[in-house]
Formats: sequence, C-alpha cells, structure tokens
Amino acid sequence: MSAKFFYSRMSRRIYLDNAATTPLLEEVIEAMLPVLYEHFGNPSSIHAEGRRTRTLVESARKSVARAIGASTAEVFFTSGGTESNNTAIKCAVRDLGVRRIISSPTEHHAVLHAIEAIAREYPVEILRLRVDAHGQPDLAQLEAFLAQSDASRTLVSLMHANNEIGTLLDLSAVSALCQQYGALLHTDAVQTVAHFPINVQQTPVAFLSASAHKFHGPKGVGFLYINADNLIRPFMDGGGQERNMRGGTENVYGIVGLAKALELAITHMDDRKQYIQRLRRYFIKRLRDTIDDIQFNGTPEADNDLYTVLSVSFPPSPKNELLLLHLDIAGISASGGSACSSGAEQHSSHVLEAIQADPQRKTIRFSFSHLNTPEEVDEVISKIREILLPLSRNVPA
Ligand code: PLP
Repeated sequence: MSAKFFYSRMSRRIYLDNAATTPLLEEVIEAMLPVLYEHFGNPSSIHAEGRRTRTLVESARKSVARAIGASTAEVFFTSGGTESNNTAIKCAVRDLGVRRIISSPTEHHAVLHAIEAIAREYPVEILRLRVDAHGQPDLAQLEAFLAQSDASRTLVSLMHANNEIGTLLDLSAVSALCQQYGALLHTDAVQTVAHFPINVQQTPVAFLSASAHKFHGPKGVGFLYINADNLIRPFMDGGGQERNMRGGTENVYGIVGLAKALELAITHMDDRKQYIQRLRRYFIKRLRDTIDDIQFNGTPEADNDLYTVLSVSFPPSPKNELLLLHLDIAGISASGGSACSSGAEQHSSHVLEAIQADPQRKTIRFSFSHLNTPEEVDEVISKIREILLPLSRNVPA
C-alpha cells in the first residue's frame, strides 16, 4: 500500500459511517511512516533508538495536552476509547473509593458494561438519569441525586456526545454541578475530541476519554485525561510505562498518528465544522423534500448537537428492513444505529429504546466527515428514492 493511499480517492464508495470510524488522512499516514520504517526503538530503552521514540511519544503527549488545556502529566495513552472508559470507571471505584455511579442509559457499551462489571465486584450503587425524547439527561435529577448523599464518593459518567443520535451534553453545566457537590466527573468524549473545542481548565473533569480513529487517526490508540488530583493505580499492570499508569510498550506509530490527526483537526476545526454542518443541512433538506414523514432522532435541525451525526427515522415501510443492505449494495456505507461488535445489523439499540423511538420506524445513522461532498449526498438521495419510493410518493393513487 502506498503512502498516497487515501480513501476518498481510491474508493468509489460513499462512506457515511464516520461515527463508527474515519479514514486515515494522508498527512497522518505520512507522519506515521518514518516511525514504521525507521524508528522502531522501544521508548523504555536508554540507547539512541529508544531515546528517539521516547522523544516522539513525549512530543505527542505535549501536543495532546496543549490541545485540551491539560498538563502533560495528565495525559495517558491507551488502546482507545474502550480502555480509557474502563480505566476511568473501574479505577475510580477501586482506588478513589467511589461507591455510587450516576450515568445515563444512552452511554456507549464501553461505559455501560464497565459500570456493570465493576458493580459486580464492589458495592457500588448505580443510578441512571432519565433522558428526554432527544436523549438529553435530566440535569435537575442529576442535581437531586448529587444533593442526596455523600457526593465525594460519587462518580458521574456522562458522554459528551451520543454516537448514535448526536445528543450533545451541556458539559459545562454538568462540570459545574459536580464541582459544587464535590463529585468526580468522567466524560466519554470519544465523539467530540477534535470536533469541538475542549479545555479541561475551563471545564474541569476528573477523567476524559478519547480515541484517535474517530478523528482520522489510527485505530487501537486513544488517550485518557486524568486530572492530577486523582491518583489511581494502573488498570493494566506491567512495566512502568506511562509513568507507572499503564504497563505495555507504547504504540509509538499510533501515538504519533493520534497527535498528528488531533493537530490537524484543531487547526481546521472551524472550517471542517462549518462544512459538515452545511452538508448535513443539505442532506436534511433533500430528505425532507424526498420522503414524506421523514423524522430525525436528536436535534439535528436545531444545530446544537454533534454535527457529524444524522440519525434518520424512516416512516414504516416493508422495504425498510433491507434499506441498509440495499444502500451497501449500491456502494453507500451507513449504519443501523451504532457499529456493533458482531458486524451484523442490530435490530434494536439501547439508545433508541431509551428515547422511546417508534419501533415501527427504521433508523439509519449517516455520519459525516469533511471528506464527504454534496454530490455524494445527491447520490445517496437518489439511491434512497430508488429503493423506497415505489412504495410511497411515486405510486399512482
Ligand atoms: N465511546 C463512544 C461514544 C464511541 O463512539 C466509541 C466507539 O464506537 C467508543 C467509546 C469506543 O472507542 P474505541 O473504538 O476506541 O474502543
């Protein structure tokens, strides 16, 4: 595979599943190549090869810390969002005395299952906030829970943006509440790091999870921000890597790619955001013009959400079940909700259940990046029309 590999140029497919993962950018590949080819040293080795890769890891850490307003000592590289979430939640219980976790039913499984798993090992009370029809957790209920008992032993774990329907949390408000009551706050920011400005000094959190492959970086690498006040022991025991916080030889090329992808995203954040927002608005309009009774989960039309995601709710139709498959055959990649671990299409989603979405309707998540184009949107609309419309608008009365 050449260094010039670049998904959108190579492939004639239309990729609208960027919330599942994003294609690597050419600049990111180019930043990683010298590490793959030449800089193979183990960062823990004290000889020249080791010192070289140590420098690469530490300069990546500096760059990530700068991007989120943290100090370098608060950034820990991990294998991705799942490990970051597991570390934050399980170590908060194991090492910081957390005995109550307040979360929501719409969290990613990496949070939901980590909470359930740690609660099987420790006496942890789990409280789940109500969410409204758009997936917004009830912050009045959060405050009531926080006021109820010893908030210092409470962890609040709420995702910054929902990967299925794009609901965006008011992180500042949640952070302020947690500070007021002295609770720890973890946010799964896997869908928002590199897409929204995040500054942990302005919006304090105890833990923040991120993953490179959601912002055009490589898979299998992410980071966990851990506020310096929270002294946890390693989640992964082993050598003294990551300042004794995570054993295991560092994924040096991944870390270099993550830092490069984040730098690019920060530099181009406003342009990318505006471009994707315009594209999504155009898609919404074309869908509205094409299909009667089209609806959207979350609040995409208010533009106050995760702008990369559009969760479309199609009206009941016998053709719905095969819609995603037909789109795939037509060269269009979207998702039935979130990418699921089996690779098979999911028939139900805990997020859609939590917002009480009508099970007769069909939800398809289209998720965008700055690499998508209006021409692609037109193509998708024309395919959807071909697949669905013989049964609705085009049928003579
Ligand atoms: N959290 C959210 C909100 C996600 O969307 C994902 C990925 O789908 C994850 C966590 C897991 O991240 P990773 O794939 O890096 O383990």
